[in-house]
Amino acid sequence: MKIVCATHNLGKLTELRGALAERGVTLVPQSELGITEAVEDGLTFIENALIKARHAAKASGLPALADDSGLEVDALGGRPGIHSARFAGPAGGDAENRAALLSALAGVREEDRGARFCCILVYLRRYDDPRPLVAEGVWEGRILTRESGDQGFGYDPLFFVPERGCSAAELAAEEKQRLSHRAQALRKLGELFRP
Ligand code: IMP
Repeated sequence: MKIVCATHNLGKLTELRGALAERGVTLVPQSELGITEAVEDGLTFIENALIKARHAAKASGLPALADDSGLEVDALGGRPGIHSARFAGPAGGDAENRAALLSALAGVREEDRGARFCCILVYLRRYDDPRPLVAEGVWEGRILTRESGDQGFGYDPLFFVPERGCSAAELAAEEKQRLSHRAQALRKLGELFRP
């Protein structure tokens, strides 16, 4: 079964593909079909995931899966949240976002560095599907004072995983695929999934 994936983020795509391969699902990135990025102007993860999924389903004529995710940091009142991909500004990439996070948390004590990754997945059978499947995953941790590890993507080198005692970027890909916010959301979506 072919599903269009509404993401340009290679890290996310790899994780979603890994998790769905065993279900016989082929995930085609929207860029491979010449589909441009949707304008993510929602105020919540769920609105943005729905916007992305609907855009990809409409442009491709295929069922669509979209992920909207981000990092909520307690000491920053929940920021960067839905703005995680652009925390360092519109031109910044993962490295700049991590540097911006470290400087925003300079001087914050370890016990006040609580944070969580959130992920909302939306699946649409067609663009005007009136009953989208929606699943959420949340991964609790805290923000380190310096980067550690070189696996994963985004904020992984700064995200300490208490249940493993290391950063998300020090986990093997299969282990992140079991524990992460995205993995949790995928498991829940799998329970709802009716192609
Ligand atoms: P969006 O969902 O494409 O708007 O962007 C989500 C952003 O949140 C990514 O660019 C990353 O910076 C961050 N993020 C989401 N999931 C992860 C993850 O599993 N590891 C590290 N960073 C993540």
